[in-house]
Amino acid sequence: MSDIVYLNGAFMPLDEARIPVLDRGFIFGDGVYEVVPVYSRHPFRLAEHLRRLQNSLDGIRLANPMDDAAWTRLVGEIIAKNDGDDQSIYLQITRGVARRDHAFPKHVQQTVFMMSSPLTTPPREQVEHGAPAISASDFRWLKCDVKSVSLLGNCLLRQLAVDAGAVETILFRDGKLTEASASNVFVVKNGVLLAPPKDNLVLPGITYDVVLEIARAREFLVEVRSISEAETRDADEIWVTSSTKEVLAITTLDGKPVGDGKPGLLFRRMHALYQDFKREVMRAR
Ligand code: PMP
Repeated sequence: MSDIVYLNGAFMPLDEARIPVLDRGFIFGDGVYEVVPVYSRHPFRLAEHLRRLQNSLDGIRLANPMDDAAWTRLVGEIIAKNDGDDQSIYLQITRGVARRDHAFPKHVQQTVFMMSSPLTTPPREQVEHGAPAISASDFRWLKCDVKSVSLLGNCLLRQLAVDAGAVETILFRDGKLTEASASNVFVVKNGVLLAPPKDNLVLPGITYDVVLEIARAREFLVEVRSISEAETRDADEIWVTSSTKEVLAITTLDGKPVGDGKPGLLFRRMHALYQDFKREVMRAR
């Protein structure tokens, strides 16, 4: 019992799932997706992921093929059909199959695909010692708030990190910090947690929101405002956040130590609070 996926109304083994080559997801990258972490077989923040999915669909003018109750049922089913208590549920909707033409086809059914992978959070070593990142110019489009499957820009930027033996590529646009190739970025300076605002240049991360919620509840000093490249390079701490990385300290940027080159005090507090928060949410179910 493993690697069971959902495709257009049916569950099947992954290696039996097929889509036509004219799917607009394949031809144009014309679709959106979500990744929902699952802890102890419970989806974490599913309502928020479904809200972001709706925003992404609205952003590309594609109708939602299901309501939230149906999505919730399907997510529950795919979790149950796959192995592992902690999973990462990927779901994707494309504009369907049609003869190749840039303009939207009429009366075409969306393609809906879901799969489960094991949820792999950073190894203990990395949590304790932090990880290296590099930086690059953010050359992506101006709709980074849409969680589009057109991820070529993100893939190219992420590969730069891999080539350099780093975990992430931190991005600057017009002298300002935006995010990283597959995560949001926080900066700590003089005890203040700084976060770039949610706008069209960043993906509104679900983990970003959780981190800010925890920070405010625990009376961290928080400022949500634009952060310059110079401030980022002069930071005491840099964190990256995502559903799979959770909160991870960046301890070198482009080979130079961030602060004293060790995960900072605020990071260690936040990492522990994040783990407590997850456990609380799961216990309350
Ligand atoms: N920004 C980008 C570009 C991402 O790909 C991701 C991960 N999907 C994030 C931010 C973090 O979002 P989340 O916390 O919802 O995983």
